[in-house]
Amino acid sequence: MEPKDTTTNEAFKGLTNEACPFLPCHKGVEREFNCLFCYCPLIAYECPGPYQVFTDRNGMKRKDCSACTLPHDGYRRSWNFIQRWLERPRIWDGSDQDPKRIKDAPSE
Ligand code: SF4
Repeated sequence: MEPKDTTTNEAFKGLTNEACPFLPCHKGVEREFNCLFCYCPLIAYECPGPYQVFTDRNGMKRKDCSACTLPHDGYRRSWNFIQRWLERPRIWDGSDQDPKRIKDAPSE
């Protein structure tokens, strides 16, 4: 049993930082804006988000996640999304996103 299993209070699943000067930093969020995953835990892993790949000044492949709302769209929804994709994390190899993976992104 984990601490989260001992309470019905779900406040740990998300928050909105109304004082942030960048809010809303991603367009298209329809539910509560979840800032908990501002730095997405999936940045180094395979994910179903619509990222673009670019090469930084050190020659490293990076994800540009500007178009992704998955970690932000609703407290419970984004919490569940992140937990599910961290259950079996696979290291991202720097490849472009597969359009099929975006299409198959879970809706809950
Ligand atoms: S595309 Fe979305 S889910 Fe994937 S790493 Fe970026 S913000 Fe996270």
